Amino acid sequence: GAKRQGRNTWQWYRGDGQRITAEEVLLRHDLYTALNNEEFALHYQPIVAADDGRVRGFEALIRWHHPQRGLISPGVFIPLAEQTGQIIPLGRWVLHRACRDAAALLAEAGTTATLAVNISSLQFRRPGFLEDVERALAASGLVPERLELEVTESILLEGVTHASELIRQLGELGVRVALDDFGTGFSSLSYLRDLPIHKVKLDRGFIHDILTNERNAAIVQGVITMAHHMAMVVVAEGIETDAQREEMRRRGCDLLQGFYFARPAPLDDITGHTP
Ligand code: C2E
Ligand code: MG
Ligand code: MG
Ligand code: MG
Repeated sequence: GAKRQGRNTWQWYRGDGQRITAEEVLLRHDLYTALNNEEFALHYQPIVAADDGRVRGFEALIRWHHPQRGLISPGVFIPLAEQTGQIIPLGRWVLHRACRDAAALLAEAGTTATLAVNISSLQFRRPGFLEDVERALAASGLVPERLELEVTESILLEGVTHASELIRQLGELGVRVALDDFGTGFSSLSYLRDLPIHKVKLDRGFIHDILTNERNAAIVQGVITMAHHMAMVVVAEGIETDAQREEMRRRGCDLLQGFYFARPAPLDDITGHTP
């Protein structure tokens, strides 16, 4: 809400008490028309097997080409879209576009490859999300087993029962769920225990000093071992060097993703087709 600051100035505050910058106010406004103006695009980053380096899937990552400001990172505009509620139509667009692109993408990576889509917690917790997923699959003809949804621990804001039930229902459809940015939130271990997830993505904060920080390495090794005991697949994000690749492979991580292999790129760059 607004708070009076001195005589003639007002400041806007977010729900979390942080000040909203003038920049954010303008961007939030522009978000309302961006979808209709087709300013969003999806880029795709490969996820490879740690043992042989073969592409096992892709992650869809949204990009905003702002007509005046150029490329804006999802780290900036996704939180704004969550504040305004725009994340709901935007998230639906991502799901439909990614499922539509999947056929061309997965043709590059073999029949068991998966396409991962990031899902905002607000989108996940909203009634009708399961139906949104079903509609995106039906409209694209994508086999549910090829779709994977990446969620973060904040899906648990309405309790572990609700989240577990929804993940279970998605599983009945054939769609699997991965826990993204693992290790950055609170109470991570109990979530690993309580949620019927299929895959854990180790946050890149654990990867960047994996070769030098022994405590970090111990946590990473512990998570890999625990996840494997629970029949989960482990992915490491943010692999930037060959040494990190080899270290994570040696530690038993199943899948790897990062700039070392490839940066996120438009569909046409990956498939070699021109639009
Ligand atoms: P994320 O889901 O954890 O995605 C991984 C982020 O790490 C991406 O940033 C990717 O470009 C970046 N990355 C990949 N490899 C490397 C590397 O080797 N080094 C470094 N430094 N970074 C690497 P991006 O594309 O800027 O996305 C940031 C976040 O925005 C995502 O984190 C995700 O939380 C969110 N996001 C992206 N696309 C979507 C979307 O379609 N829907 C929703 N709800 N959120 C999205
Ligand atoms: Mg992700
Ligand atoms: Mg992540
Ligand atoms: Mg992240």
